Amino acid sequence: MINVKNRSIDNRLTEAKEELEAVRNYPDEKFAGIIGEIGFKCELCGRCCTKEFNDHVFLLDSDVAAIRAIDPEALVPAPYYEFCDQTGRFYVSGYALKTKADGSCVFLEAGRCKIYGKRPTICRVYPYMLHREADENGCVDWRQLSGLNEHGSYHSEMGGTECEALAEDTKVYEEAFLLQSIGFLETLKVHFKKYGLKHVQRIYDKQMRDFLKGDIDIEVFVYCEGGFEKCTPGKNKIK
Ligand code: SF4
Repeated sequence: MINVKNRSIDNRLTEAKEELEAVRNYPDEKFAGIIGEIGFKCELCGRCCTKEFNDHVFLLDSDVAAIRAIDPEALVPAPYYEFCDQTGRFYVSGYALKTKADGSCVFLEAGRCKIYGKRPTICRVYPYMLHREADENGCVDWRQLSGLNEHGSYHSEMGGTECEALAEDTKVYEEAFLLQSIGFLETLKVHFKKYGLKHVQRIYDKQMRDFLKGDIDIEVFVYCEGGFEKCTPGKNKIK
């Protein structure tokens, strides 16, 4: 997750557009080749469906309707709300899946996904990814596989067609994710201008502190289908 603290909407828009361009220009053959070299094989450990292993399952707009039809209570605003205006209202670019008290996905049962056929897009492309990220030493580079050497097995034989399909699906996901971020930032910019609002980091920090202490409830505007939906995460109630 990008650290958005103290960065303006415009700066973030520029970065997201540059990243989109870079993802689009990343050579398909190179990506498919890397997938083949890694030869990842899922060992069905189920760890990737836990908060401990993957912080949260971010939902694209295209996933939200399907999850809502299965269980509307499974949707929560994606964590690390990105902005907070001077009235104390938070804004975030989409929904995530709720987790249970033990940190596992609300749909994980006995180590298996109980909505497997309808699982969100990120769960379909995982563990493949294509974005630039800093490693533990701060070195920013392309990352193609999440949790490398921490789950599954490696160096399995994979066919060229399979690798190409995985590369293509992952790129489609990353592009959709960035387009959603861009849509969120552009919509927020218009919303702030229209209502005379602005991001105030001091209010963000105070609201979040008070919320985490349990002193207050908060309102989060979640970006969905080109607009915002008001959500009260403390009550997990979507209005
Ligand atoms: S929806 Fe299914 S595959 Fe995705 S994290 Fe939850 S249990 Fe895992």
